[in-house]
Amino acid sequence: MEISQKVKQTLSKIKINKKERILVALSGGKDSTVTAYLLKKFGYNIEGFHIDLGMGEYSEKCLKAIKELCDDLKIKLYIYDIKKEMGSSMCYLRSAIQSRKSLKNCAICGVIKKWIMNKEARRLKVSKIATGHNLDDEAQTFLINIFKGSPELSANSGAISKNMQDKKFVPRIKPLFYVLENDIRKFSKKEKLPVVYESCPCALDSYRIQVREFLNTLSEKNKENIIKNSQKILSKIKKKDTKISYCKICGEPARKNICKKCELMEIKN
Ligand code: SF4
Ligand SMILES: [Zn+2]
Repeated sequence: MEISQKVKQTLSKIKINKKERILVALSGGKDSTVTAYLLKKFGYNIEGFHIDLGMGEYSEKCLKAIKELCDDLKIKLYIYDIKKEMGSSMCYLRSAIQSRKSLKNCAICGVIKKWIMNKEARRLKVSKIATGHNLDDEAQTFLINIFKGSPELSANSGAISKNMQDKKFVPRIKPLFYVLENDIRKFSKKEKLPVVYESCPCALDSYRIQVREFLNTLSEKNKENIIKNSQKILSKIKKKDTKISYCKICGEPARKNICKKCELMEIKN
């Protein structure tokens, strides 16, 4: 099935309404660019959101590509400049955290970006956040959780977030959930979309890279089967307790007294 068809099918399955405002998390890479491009093409009501991580030349290239995409497709774009808003670039924030905790770059960056996205999406009063996660990303995460012995961590994965039902939590959708990374790359090139193809210079999660390399030795059919069968397996796994409270420091939704971002940054109340 063609990528457009797959995405259409996913969006109708998760019942996304064409009138609701969707904020697309744009990184400058192929996945989020194709997500925005297809949502716009299908007539969804989208706006773009980019977090400028302040990572030198790489961030500058990403911002340029995103501005070009949004100009071409007439997408309203919001830019969150992490240096201005949080006082430092992601590189600095990360090194400060890593001097106290042994954590991978992406683990830190991912938590901070999610925190920003939810807070800003709520401030902008959109009804959903769309991200560019694809089938390969999801298969990697599923296998990593299996290898770690915690398959239940994947229990809430899917094309729409199922984990948090809370007025302060903006639901997330993944229109490319059933699309192979390779097909996204080919599609973005065929459509000549403005994309930064080089990888983030800070993507140093060696374990994920190892799992990705292993997955790339499998056929596309087998990758698709991992996702198809993971959904069957996960529907039988008892979900983690989904009770949500609010962070005592920043007020954002959290599973404990303090949210992951404030815990990482060791912000005291
Ligand atoms: S690859 Fe990792 S470090 Fe780079 S932007 Fe993504 S989460 Fe952040
Ligand atoms: Zn917090």
